[in-house]
Amino acid sequence: MKKIKCETCLTEFEPTEKQVVEIEKSANAGIERFIIDCPKCHSIVFVFPLMLLGKSTVAPKEIEDDRLFCCPVSACIGFVEENKDAKVFGCSECGTEWRTLDKVHQSIEQIIEKYPHRKKVYQKNGEQWKSISLDEIPKGYYSKVNNEKV
Ligand SMILES: [Zn+2]
Ligand SMILES: [Zn+2]
Repeated sequence: MKKIKCETCLTEFEPTEKQVVEIEKSANAGIERFIIDCPKCHSIVFVFPLMLLGKSTVAPKEIEDDRLFCCPVSACIGFVEENKDAKVFGCSECGTEWRTLDKVHQSIEQIIEKYPHRKKVYQKNGEQWKSISLDEIPKGYYSKVNNEKV
């Protein structure tokens, strides 16, 4: 099997036997994307099972928009996405993972407290946090986030 490259720490690694089994299983089930754990930095790494197994040469198209929130991590302009297969929420930009939606909500509360400009992209709906429509992210939001201290 091809080596997998972690985009976060740039390590190339061979999947473990267990991961190979999981990758084969998802390829057989027609799952196009799969998340595995980087053995070095433990970031999530998106892999394409069919490509890894040499059954396909094209990466799956980004058709589905699974973005739930602007990433509530300091200085990160990525998005929180739900990975239904891995049952985890994660941001591919900074590699942060949240096991539950509650944990995402906690991070949102913390980042808003730290940086009031973050209030513009999250809305509180009762006890639940919702995102504004991602097409409506205010101008200047990204540059403000870029200037946050890590
Ligand atoms: Zn890594
Ligand atoms: Zn992030």
